[in-house]
Amino acid sequence: MRKPTKWIAALLAIVLLLSGCSVSTVDEATKPTETINLTAVTSAPTEASTTATAALTTQTEAPTTKPTTVPTTAPTIKTAPTTTPTTVPTTPPAKTSFSVHFIDVGQADAALVECDGHYMLIDGGNKADSNVIYSVLKKAAVPKLDIVVGTHAHEDHIGGLPGAFNYTTADITLCPVKNYDSNAFEDFAKYATQKGGGITVPKKGDTYSLGSATVKILGVNGGSDTNDTSIVLRIDYGKTSFLFTGDAEREAEQAILSTGEDLSATVLKVGHHGSDTSTSYPFLREIMPKYAVISVGTGNSYGHPTEDTLSRLRDADVKVFRTDVQGDIFCTSDGNEVTFSVTRNAGADVFGGIGENSTQTKPTTAPTTPPTTKATTEPENTPVVEPVGDMVWIPKTGKKYHSSSSCSNMKNPSKVTRSQAIQMGYDPCKKCY
Ligand SMILES: [Zn+2]
Ligand SMILES: [Zn+2]
Repeated sequence: MRKPTKWIAALLAIVLLLSGCSVSTVDEATKPTETINLTAVTSAPTEASTTATAALTTQTEAPTTKPTTVPTTAPTIKTAPTTTPTTVPTTPPAKTSFSVHFIDVGQADAALVECDGHYMLIDGGNKADSNVIYSVLKKAAVPKLDIVVGTHAHEDHIGGLPGAFNYTTADITLCPVKNYDSNAFEDFAKYATQKGGGITVPKKGDTYSLGSATVKILGVNGGSDTNDTSIVLRIDYGKTSFLFTGDAEREAEQAILSTGEDLSATVLKVGHHGSDTSTSYPFLREIMPKYAVISVGTGNSYGHPTEDTLSRLRDADVKVFRTDVQGDIFCTSDGNEVTFSVTRNAGADVFGGIGENSTQTKPTTAPTTPPTTKATTEPENTPVVEPVGDMVWIPKTGKKYHSSSSCSNMKNPSKVTRSQAIQMGYDPCKKCY
C-alpha cells in the first residue's frame, strides 16, 4: 500500500512540474504576439489618415500638422498576418475620411463636405459661380451629392447651386423656404425639383448621416429677416465638429441659444461673411471654436469681415482662415484633430503674399493690433498697438513676424500687414520687437 502511494506522489510531482513548465512557455510565446498585434492595430489609422491627406494632394504640399508618421509607417501593415491567427482584427478599422473644401467664391458661401465617399454641398456661391461649383465637383469626381443645402434664399448662397445640379444629382435638397421672389431662387428651385428631389424644409433636431459623420440641424427660420432664416447645422465626425451658420445674424443666434442646444464645435464657418451683425459674444462663447473660416470677397463693398468680428474671434483665441486672403481653404479631420491647408501662395494675393506655412501656425494668444475698433474686453500685456496698415515681414518658414526684412531670424520674407500676420497666427519676433 505504501509503495504505490509514493509512486503516485512522484508521478504527480513530475506532471505538475511539466505542466508548470509548459504554462510558462505559452506565456512567453504569447507576449510577443500581443505586441505585434498592437503595432498592427495602431498603424492602421495612420494608413487611413494617409489616404485622407492623399485626397487633397492636388493643392500644393499642404503642410500637415502632424507630418511625422505619414511616410514611414505604411509598410508595417504587412506585419499583421504573420504570427497570430486568432484574436487579431485582421481587417484594419474601416477606412474613413473627412474633409471640407471651403470654395473661394468671392463675396459668397460654398463648401463641399466629404465623408467616406459621401458628399454634401453647403451653398453654391453666386449665379456666376455655377461654373466654379461644377468644376469643383468634377475635379473631386463626386458620384452624387447625398445632401445639398441652400442655407437661405439669398443669391450669394443658392445662386451657383444649379452648377452642382448640372453636374450631378442630389438625394435631398434642404432650404428654409420653398419660394422666394428672385430669378436666382427660381432657377435653383427648378433644378432642385429636377435633380435634387425637390426642396425639403428641415426642422430643428433633424439629423442626416453622411458616411460616418452626422449632420444635425440646430436651427432654421430663426427670424423673419432672410439672413435669419438660415439653416444652422453641425457636422460631427469623431471628436471633431463643424458648425455652418449661413448668414444667421444675432436674432437667429439668440433663437438657437435659447434652445439650450450644445453648440460646441471645432471649426466655425463664420456667419454672414464676418459681418458685425453675426458671431455675437454669447453665441461664440457657446461654440468655442478652435478655428474659424470666413468666406468673403476681396475688397467687398460691405466691409466684411468687420474688425469687430475679427476682434471677437481673436479674443476667443480662434485661428481664422479667410477665402479673400487664402483662396480655397481645405480642412481635413482624422476624427481627433483637424488640419488646414490653403491654395494661395506667397505673392499671389493682395496682401503681398501669405506663405503656405502660415496655415499651420497655432492660434495667437496675442490680442492685437489693428484698427480703430478694439474689443472692450481686451486685456493682456499686449505690446504696443501699432497703426493700421503697418507692414511687417513674415518668413516662408517659422511662426514669428518681423519688423525688419534683414532680421537674421528670418529667410525668404514676404510683406503683410501686421494685423494680417497676427491673424495668420504669427507672433512678434523677440529680436525685432
Ligand atoms: Zn451671404
Ligand atoms: Zn444672406
